[in-house]
Amino acid sequence: MLQLNLSPLIGARPGERLTFILDEGPQQIEDVSVDFLRGSIQFTRVHGGILVEAWVDTRVNVECVRCLETFPYETTLEIEEVIGISSKPRPGISYHLTDEGWFDPLPLLREQILVNIPMKPLCRPDCRGICPECGANLNLEPCLCPVEHVDPRLAPLAQLLNRKVG
Ligand SMILES: [Zn+2]
Ligand SMILES: [Zn+2]
Repeated sequence: MLQLNLSPLIGARPGERLTFILDEGPQQIEDVSVDFLRGSIQFTRVHGGILVEAWVDTRVNVECVRCLETFPYETTLEIEEVIGISSKPRPGISYHLTDEGWFDPLPLLREQILVNIPMKPLCRPDCRGICPECGANLNLEPCLCPVEHVDPRLAPLAQLLNRKVG
């Protein structure tokens, strides 16, 4: 949790702004783990809310879909979103200040992280994955299973060929 005090903006005129420099170490934001968050977040009072503009560099710990190892993924989060001043629900507004004027930007940053990371992250383009028989990480060690490894993308073809032969 990272609490920023935006209370000076509550009674401010449109156009007034507050800027925060972010230089945070490792954070666990729900299911997302990052090594750092560095950048700036600017809050501008607009009619009916506060415009958040953020540029934040981060390194996310992402799990490879093939070998299931965690690897670092660097990305820049660019955010432009209007947040509400009061907790009264309003269409199109997902985030708002607390009644005392505090705002935690981490959920907003997490949402952008989920947008930025690939749908099927790979630790490297040619990741060899894990052996389905013994679970060995084939990037690190040759597996001792007697069976020939079939490229997962070709597996349906191999089954087809086996069936024809058998
Ligand atoms: Zn991998
Ligand atoms: Zn194996």
